[in-house]
Amino acid sequence: MIITNGKIITWTKPNEIIEGKSILVQGNVIKRIDDEEVLRKKYPREEIVDALGQYVMPGLICAHTHFYGAYSRGLAIPGDAPAAFPEILSKLWWSLDKALDEKSVASSAWVSILDAIKHGNTCLFDHHASPNAIPDSLDVIAEVVNQSGIRASLCYEVTDRDGEGKAREGINENVRFIKKINKGENLDGRLATVFGLHASLTLSDKTLEQSRSVAPTESGFHIHIAEHTADEYDSLNKSGLRVVDRLNKFNILNEKSIAAHAVHVDAKEIDILSKTKTWVTHQPRSNMNNAVGIGNVESMMRAGVKVCLGNDGFSNTMWDEWKTTYLVHKLVNLDPRRMGGFDVVEMAIYQNAAMASQHFNLPIGSIVPGAQADIIFVDYKPFTELHSGNLPWHILFGMHHSMVTMTMVAGKILMKNKEFVDIDEEKIISDAYQSHKGVWERYNDQF
Ligand SMILES: [Zn+2]
Repeated sequence: MIITNGKIITWTKPNEIIEGKSILVQGNVIKRIDDEEVLRKKYPREEIVDALGQYVMPGLICAHTHFYGAYSRGLAIPGDAPAAFPEILSKLWWSLDKALDEKSVASSAWVSILDAIKHGNTCLFDHHASPNAIPDSLDVIAEVVNQSGIRASLCYEVTDRDGEGKAREGINENVRFIKKINKGENLDGRLATVFGLHASLTLSDKTLEQSRSVAPTESGFHIHIAEHTADEYDSLNKSGLRVVDRLNKFNILNEKSIAAHAVHVDAKEIDILSKTKTWVTHQPRSNMNNAVGIGNVESMMRAGVKVCLGNDGFSNTMWDEWKTTYLVHKLVNLDPRRMGGFDVVEMAIYQNAAMASQHFNLPIGSIVPGAQADIIFVDYKPFTELHSGNLPWHILFGMHHSMVTMTMVAGKILMKNKEFVDIDEEKIISDAYQSHKGVWERYNDQF
């Protein structure tokens, strides 16, 4: 395939915006960037995809999400509104996940991935929970990843909150799935995994120890860290240690591990996250919605922590997460100089790409020869000059997800001219609608 007539944003470092060149995609890889004439002559049989003057850029990457949360949309929480995050967990998330069966695990993954593709996401890191449908749940989601064409990292959130038996089931599900991926059943690099853990506050020493002992040595862990002060106080009560110190004691933190949130970590914990090379993911919309505070990610980046951007399942519109990141740090610090556009880009583009490249063991997140062909077209018509020096502000103030017209993952076009290619959107939505009734019923039955 030859992509012609696009303005190519490479998101290399330094970033380049290339006009008047075309991209040769063969298989799942970007092979060459050259003049259209040269490519057409040398590769006469390749299909031509005309970008019609649109911006052509790497697809968006989400570093932390929850497909299973899809059915929370429009769901009323019975009784008084939760007044703090621990209540939100017990009244919403820990009741909603119990209402999921195998069918709704699949349909929640489908609607989330559909939404992601529509909004220009090409790579997602999911964190799954379905306590009443644990065994093989990652296979159910992997099949949706397979059929949809997206790229995703999957794991199961191990927790003690539903008893020892369910904790063991969660551990077994991670181990089973890690073995499968390690055997090479990874959809040509579109599927990856880490070992999932819920959060320190729902994990006993015994479960942490067991998880570490059965996970392969090189395995990373995907876990929520200090999202609310409750996590820190629980850890101090249990162990006399703060959350990051406690997890580090169990060797949970390493260069492949993913720590979501890190809102309430202190200076020592930031130092440990930096020294262990743990990825931290920032999700400001979720943090604002739960009123848990905002992680000091600017300090973390200065301390050498690898900070990425996720959405926590909030909605698959990563540019909205960019915009929130850009705004909220100015507000909480009462300083419009905080969180510049390039700080957002460092997380959302460069660190997300680095994490994806490491986890999928493939070059992901830039438009250069050799990189995976994860590409989107954006129909953005700037009315002021746009160059690599001011691109972040054009995205923050000008680009919207409705401008994404084409999404390609691993060289395959999943959406073209805003229409899904091989995905039956109507059927997916109607299946999900059917299964939401049962999910909501089983949710409400718990109150
Ligand atoms: Zn989360």
